[in-house]
Amino acid sequence: MQILFLIASIVLVFMVVRLMLKTPDVPRPEHPSKRRQTMSDHGYKTSGKMLRCHYCGLHIPEEESLQAEGRPFCSDAHRDLFLTQESTRE
Ligand SMILES: [Zn+2]
Repeated sequence: MQILFLIASIVLVFMVVRLMLKTPDVPRPEHPSKRRQTMSDHGYKTSGKMLRCHYCGLHIPEEESLQAEGRPFCSDAHRDLFLTQESTRE
């Protein structure tokens, strides 16, 4: 009976050790949306003029901006969101 207890505890220790070794250390992949900001931070070719997104306030090079109703936007999404809000406003 004692030997069964011994085997059981060995198996238990083995399982715990395996579980600890198994703990994944997966590196998170870089988020692709970070690229845009990094590019402008590292001397991305621009005329030097920065515009401010009318929707979120993000500063973007003039070449990368989108214009709508004379206002600059950082992306199609923000331009569309702004235009949608404008059209639904009373
Ligand atoms: Zn924006």
